Amino acid sequence: MATVAFIGLGNMGGPMAINLVKAGHQVQAFDLSAAALAQVEAEGAVVATSARAAVQGAEFVISMLPAGKHVAALYLGEQGVADDIAPSALVLDCSTIDAATARQVGAGLAAQGIAFIDAPVSGGVGGAKAGTLTFIVGGSAANFERAKTVLEAMGKNLFHAGDVGAGQVAKICNNMLLSILMAGTSEALQLGIDNGLDPKVLSDIMLKSSGRNWTLELYNPCPDVLPNVPSSNDYQGGFMVDLMAKDLGLAAECAQLSQSATPMGSQARNLYVTHQRQGHGKLDFSSIFRFFAKK
Ligand code: NAD
Repeated sequence: MATVAFIGLGNMGGPMAINLVKAGHQVQAFDLSAAALAQVEAEGAVVATSARAAVQGAEFVISMLPAGKHVAALYLGEQGVADDIAPSALVLDCSTIDAATARQVGAGLAAQGIAFIDAPVSGGVGGAKAGTLTFIVGGSAANFERAKTVLEAMGKNLFHAGDVGAGQVAKICNNMLLSILMAGTSEALQLGIDNGLDPKVLSDIMLKSSGRNWTLELYNPCPDVLPNVPSSNDYQGGFMVDLMAKDLGLAAECAQLSQSATPMGSQARNLYVTHQRQGHGKLDFSSIFRFFAKK
């Protein structure tokens, strides 16, 4: 079993760190929030007084932070932990951040002889708690293999997308497509409702027709078509509009850098940012259905 430093114990990082403890790893945890630290301490993690203290003697260093600026500051900033990480350690950043920052952090750590992979996740808070996350890894094949020691305690599907940064690129490609499917499914369902169709009947028809997709099948955005999905619970829980808007911003940045045409992604981003500004940032992302629903 390994000694693992875990930095960033929020909605995702907290349960991920607890799963590492349950798998028998020694977890040295740090977060700026005392409440977040207390939660993982109660489950058996060792609480550190700083990020620098947390990484001491760790074979794996995992971060799960809000955005690229936090990740860059943690590893490469003035108060950064790079000097305190053992050269034999493997660093895994599981946050969803821009690929450029992931590559910059990877290069900065490599300059000090420290191995790095980006390993963003899919599966949400439910997947983090259940230990069934999907990890999408960017880094060398050898580091991907090495990371399995800890990733297997937190996830079920492990993908190697390519070199450092590739995990982040794959993750935002997926989320951009997901947002387009969710907005399109909402638009089609509302068109049917406005023309007298029952959304359940229309969903059944489209599920057996060529419009079938993941959002329609497992995450229907129209309330009361499916049980146990956020739309049937006033759009509570699930994946927040704020996070989808963030990921669509990352997709736009990535597209600009590679000069890729992403008109559908841009449209979805406009919809989500407008929806967010209308005060729906904390709702599940399927609440984009309300954007189309007649008031
Ligand atoms: P969160 O805001 O709940 O947690 C972030 C944690 O980081 C907080 O506890 C905060 O105190 C801590 N933190 C911030 N700066 C820090 C620092 N310098 N040192 C130590 N701790 C610090 O966010 P989350 O929902 O857990 O998401 C984390 C990452 O995972 C984000 O990049 C997000 O996009 C991604 N993600 C989230 C979900 C989801 O459903 N929540 C799904 C997939 C990916």
